[in-house]
Amino acid sequence: MNYEPRTSTDSHYVPQQTKKGYDQIQALPNHVIKQIAAGEVISSTAAVVRELVENALDAKADRLTISLDEQLSCIQVADNGEGITLENLRCCASPHTTSKIQTFADLQKIVSLGFRGEALHSLTQIASLQIFSRPRYPESGMGYGVQYNQGGTVVSEKTIALAPGTIVSVSDLFKDLPARRHALPKVSQQLKTIQKTIYEIALAHPYLTWQVYHQDRLWLHLSPGETPQQLFPQILPKFQQSDFQYICHRITLPEITEESQLELVVGLPDRASRHKGDWIKTAINGRCVRLPELEQTLISGLMRTLPRDRHPICWLHLHTHPSFIDWNRHPSKAEIYLRHLSFWREKTIHALDEVLKLNPETVPETFHNQRLGELLKVGEEKGSYQVTTTQKKEKEAVNLIPLSAIAQLHNTYIIAEHPSGIWLIEQHIAHERIIYEQLEAQWQLTPQDPPLILNHLSLSQQEQLERLGIEIDAFGEDTWAIRTVPKILQQRDDLTDAIIELSQGGDLQTAQVATACRSAIRNGTPLSVPEMQEILDGWQRTRHPHTCPHGRPIYLSLAETSLAKFFRRHWVIGKSHGI
Ligand code: ADP
Ligand code: MG
Repeated sequence: MNYEPRTSTDSHYVPQQTKKGYDQIQALPNHVIKQIAAGEVISSTAAVVRELVENALDAKADRLTISLDEQLSCIQVADNGEGITLENLRCCASPHTTSKIQTFADLQKIVSLGFRGEALHSLTQIASLQIFSRPRYPESGMGYGVQYNQGGTVVSEKTIALAPGTIVSVSDLFKDLPARRHALPKVSQQLKTIQKTIYEIALAHPYLTWQVYHQDRLWLHLSPGETPQQLFPQILPKFQQSDFQYICHRITLPEITEESQLELVVGLPDRASRHKGDWIKTAINGRCVRLPELEQTLISGLMRTLPRDRHPICWLHLHTHPSFIDWNRHPSKAEIYLRHLSFWREKTIHALDEVLKLNPETVPETFHNQRLGELLKVGEEKGSYQVTTTQKKEKEAVNLIPLSAIAQLHNTYIIAEHPSGIWLIEQHIAHERIIYEQLEAQWQLTPQDPPLILNHLSLSQQEQLERLGIEIDAFGEDTWAIRTVPKILQQRDDLTDAIIELSQGGDLQTAQVATACRSAIRNGTPLSVPEMQEILDGWQRTRHPHTCPHGRPIYLSLAETSLAKFFRRHWVIGKSHGI
């Protein structure tokens, strides 16, 4: 079994079919109930939506229509899933009844989103519940409508004409629970939470089509995508699909032979970020959950790629063997226990590096909406890119994009030719990125002999240098001997200034940024073509080439197709002039 991202035709999520050809709903035995961290009270409209949508997904639906009334006291979710037989309709709202698990052992291999058999029953305690359903198997040619009383017993039953699938209708929500009703936030706030819930589920199940109506008007619509990357521009319309990168890694975990998977979408730091840290999300096996350790890995992995007041956009979805997850850490399944956490952490760092790299396979579309990868192929066919054979081989070996330095502009920008256009790279920050990552990889201190002598250092400056690992001794009246210095700075004429700057505060990372900035080639410095090429190649090899450690974008690419469009090269007169 592979734990792959699920598509609408996937089969590993299919609950076990019984001999009758459909899933029999049964009451869970008491000893299983005791193992479940249940008791969650459905206290919000978003929780109602989540529970109903998760049921639809477990029934293999790929189309969802949600209707909300003005005050959100009626919520209806219609799906095109497998439907519910009349027999199952009669018992599905009773306490602890589920078709998804039966025994204690099943708890170790949960592949469905629900398994506690509580949601429908809880809904009957807080609202009026009606379910209309027509099962796909056995095909009866008709549907049934069932009304439940408080407690989940059927009070009325009728046959109706209906397409295969299910409509769950919840009305008079919290009507008899004034305390809970008054505790609800404003409708607009509740709608926001519902929207967030829907987005999270949609990203975890990108193959779904969503239509959500509020007061009979289409309020939210999401088209299906093959990957979560395709959903992002629908969810965050300020951005385009090319502002994100997506990868999906197959992973073999220790102990099992089945493959797991890691999916990651990241907003490219020079294109897509947020003013708050609300879009760093993690999910596992189809459900968005808090995985604080991995969230932290994402945050620190993207540190020094964004300006201080910006936050990354990340979506990390793990697909793994259900026995490695314990859903019973939290009643709403919002937190879990996950095995192999440090392994996943390592894989996340690796995936992050890969997603942020500039390479021919993942190079994003340019600012002009053309897929650079495709153009690159065209460019190569035309043979317009000229490098010596050895240069080219070398480039292929390290998987660099074919960028050739051709000139320098204002002693500040490197102009590089690319088979599909031109790129401008700011020399100082590209070089700063290279040096910063070298320093991050090895912050090497080296003995300084004879020592560097500094005067007038305050106590906090002395302590700061010590914190950075620099050896410092009192050397006389108001004088100190600096016996080790960062290796990269040692040969510099401004070593003294650099050490004083480092003594002025910040953590090691800040010191590394300051050192990189100081050591990088200044703007205004003339460079030869080989020097520029060296910067280009070194910069492309960095882990995070999109932005400098302060978060400024490093390059601007202009597609040849855009130039062609601008210069109207498609005009017929062009041909007669031999262009
Ligand atoms: P759980 O999802 O934990 O099993 P619920 O109370 O949410 O518990 O649902 C009870 C049962 O009702 C499910 O196990 C499933 O068999 C059936 N069911 C609920 N909603 C749907 C639906 N939309 N389509 C098909 N079956 C459903
Ligand atoms: Mg459920």
